[in-house]
Amino acid sequence: MNEHDTLDKINADIRYCKLCSLSDARKNTVPGEGNFLKKLMIIGEAPGYHEDQSGRPFIGAAGKILRNALAKNQINIEDVFITNIVKCRPPNNRPPQINEKKICHQYLDRQIFLLKPRIICLLGNVASSYILNLNSITNERGKVIHKDGLKFFITYHPAATIYNRSLLNTFELDIKKVAEYVS
Ligand code: URA
Repeated sequence: MNEHDTLDKINADIRYCKLCSLSDARKNTVPGEGNFLKKLMIIGEAPGYHEDQSGRPFIGAAGKILRNALAKNQINIEDVFITNIVKCRPPNNRPPQINEKKICHQYLDRQIFLLKPRIICLLGNVASSYILNLNSITNERGKVIHKDGLKFFITYHPAATIYNRSLLNTFELDIKKVAEYVS
């Protein structure tokens, strides 16, 4: 990490990354994107099929739910920086393995160091448990958590609301809290 880092440099390093086997099957890397007007960073788990095809994060069904929840609070998804714990799609959308998360963490660290978000919203168990070292997100969901000089906010992964519709209301209320925090 250094003062001369740029998103372009990080993206290029990710594009040519061969540090773990997720690079073998990927079509595209998915470094993350956004204008960062709101100083809000959102971190999901890993790219899925559509993200791998396009190189863009959260463009499938889960992304639509996230976009809607942000839009309800007058936040355009393009104005926040959205990325994932790992930047390449795991085969068959399996959860990323610990070594893959650890190897990929350097890119997330560089993104956080460069963008200096006011708050980082972690979507779901994989992102939250890895970043904050939690066994379960249940007790910490919906709260601002301070760690290593950064502020984090945990909520459900939007995909979870597809399988369990009763989570949608809480998810949207959580996104409202985050939106209030950055407005
Ligand atoms: N789910 C994620 O965690 N990330 C994406 O980019 C898409 C779906």
